[in-house]
Amino acid sequence: MDMAKQSTAQVTVVHLTSADRVLSGLKILGICWLAATFAVLIPIAHFILVPAGLLAGIFLFYRNYKFSVKAIEGSIPCPKCEKSLPTSAQPFEWPKHETCPACGIDILLKKS
Ligand SMILES: [Zn+2]
Repeated sequence: MDMAKQSTAQVTVVHLTSADRVLSGLKILGICWLAATFAVLIPIAHFILVPAGLLAGIFLFYRNYKFSVKAIEGSIPCPKCEKSLPTSAQPFEWPKHETCPACGIDILLKKS
């Protein structure tokens, strides 16, 4: 069995402050709870949609709060085909999983 290939790349990451994280969490919480509020108006389905919306809001709040890194600036070369991976602006946590769009291998990004 082949050992996983490793390569290093120099990238800059943008860190979120805890205030940013609370704010982004609250934004998604607001959207879910607003949707749940409107779901009250839907007969019968509101028995499911309202609690589901409220729970989803809380869940997404925690998920957003957990992520401390916002974006990567710089290019990450694929260890197999050497094409550079698109950098994402989505919040994430280390280690980050990526799939190479060119050759389809899984890439695990780790902090060094
Ligand atoms: Zn590749």
